[in-house]
Amino acid sequence: MSKQNIKAIRGMRDILPGQTSWWQRMERQLAEVLALYGYREIRTPILENTALFSRSIGEQTDIVSKEMYTFTDRDGSSLTMRPEGTASVVRAFVEHNLARAEPVNRLFYLGPMFRHERPQKGRYRQFYQMGAELLGSADPAADVELVDLMVECIGSIGLRDTSLQINSLGCDECRPAYREKLVSYLHGHEGSLCDDCKRRLRVNPLRVLDCKKDSCVAVSQDAPHMVDFLCDECSGHFESVRLGLETLGRSFEVNHRMVRGLDYYSRTTFELVAKGLGSQNAVAAGGRYDGLVEQIGGPKVPAVGFASGLDRILLLLQQELKEPESMPVVYMVTHGDDAWLKGLELASRVRKTGIKVMADVRRGSLKAQMKRADKDGARFVVLIGDDEVASSTVSVKDMAGEAKAGEKQMSVPVDQLVHWLKTNLEKEKAK
Ligand code: ATP
Ligand code: MG
Repeated sequence: MSKQNIKAIRGMRDILPGQTSWWQRMERQLAEVLALYGYREIRTPILENTALFSRSIGEQTDIVSKEMYTFTDRDGSSLTMRPEGTASVVRAFVEHNLARAEPVNRLFYLGPMFRHERPQKGRYRQFYQMGAELLGSADPAADVELVDLMVECIGSIGLRDTSLQINSLGCDECRPAYREKLVSYLHGHEGSLCDDCKRRLRVNPLRVLDCKKDSCVAVSQDAPHMVDFLCDECSGHFESVRLGLETLGRSFEVNHRMVRGLDYYSRTTFELVAKGLGSQNAVAAGGRYDGLVEQIGGPKVPAVGFASGLDRILLLLQQELKEPESMPVVYMVTHGDDAWLKGLELASRVRKTGIKVMADVRRGSLKAQMKRADKDGARFVVLIGDDEVASSTVSVKDMAGEAKAGEKQMSVPVDQLVHWLKTNLEKEKAK
């Protein structure tokens, strides 16, 4: 009987060392920008009670109705692997009463999210999001800060070929009148809508505007615009947001069809779209959610936030940039038992000074070890044999460019090795 190989789950992938350097660089760059704006990290569990998501994101949304990883725990309770970050952040915000300590909270998160979707390029079942939430202000300044932060974050990673789209969904005061107008328009075109949209028309008509099917897009092209129905307050808010963005030089387009796929949004919504990903082109998106904190059982706290899909951003970056360079490395080659011990000790000592050292762990012939040093991209090879042990020196070989070709080796006293390496690596940096 043949044993069947166990593979990773469809839509969930390993991120191997060749890729993790990209992720680490991206996370570093994001952390720097977030710190500049005063955002602090929050980490919430991957599992939450199912009700948290179904209530906040909305029963009728794609995420809740067909994309969640939900299962029954051993005690019978229904748990769900988080499909997005905002609901969990708001739950934690309420649970720990963060509003009491600080009227305004600036939070960010980064981690895996789970949605049972059809896997394809830029779409996975486990994917990674970085998001930021600004809780405690209803002022348009908060919307502007969030949008500005979103564009800055994505730009700092290196993705600048993006366009910003914004819209306003109004509030509970003005949206019903718009919804009525939209429904009567859509009824007139029901024959051209897909089956999903026929259902949406009854349960959540705004969501029809979000459908990506050609026939539905054609219908929604001439649909009435929410911005024409905004109440005075919502209209003033939207105007201030636009003014703020213009002042910051963040150019944008108003996209009347952008309603976003989650029920908790009100007023401003926004999306950052990249060129070059086909239909999987949204790299970051968000909006204002003034009712969510109360809905999850907290006080009335207005808020605004965004989330960005890091997998997609990396796909785009890798089309343009070369791999992040790793720092120069010293490779330790030894020959003979005494040298082997000396090498162990020396490698450890050099590392403690902050220089990256890789020691050959297979020994064997000098030639074989040198080959491996070359393959691993060593900048300097430190060689220790019987002669070196006897004279308390090491031989150092420069593996870069011309120096490598000219079989030149330098003899350096053991106690000067760290100093020698530091000086030569500094020289490298100065170039
Ligand atoms: P889409 O319209 O592409 O399905 P969405 O509206 O469902 O996106 P959000 O819930 O707003 O996406 O999540 C924010 C970002 O997370 C998206 O813009 C996208 O970059 C990323 N994202 C969402 N779902 C996935 C997924 N299955 N795989 C990879 N990235 C994703
Ligand atoms: Mg989606």
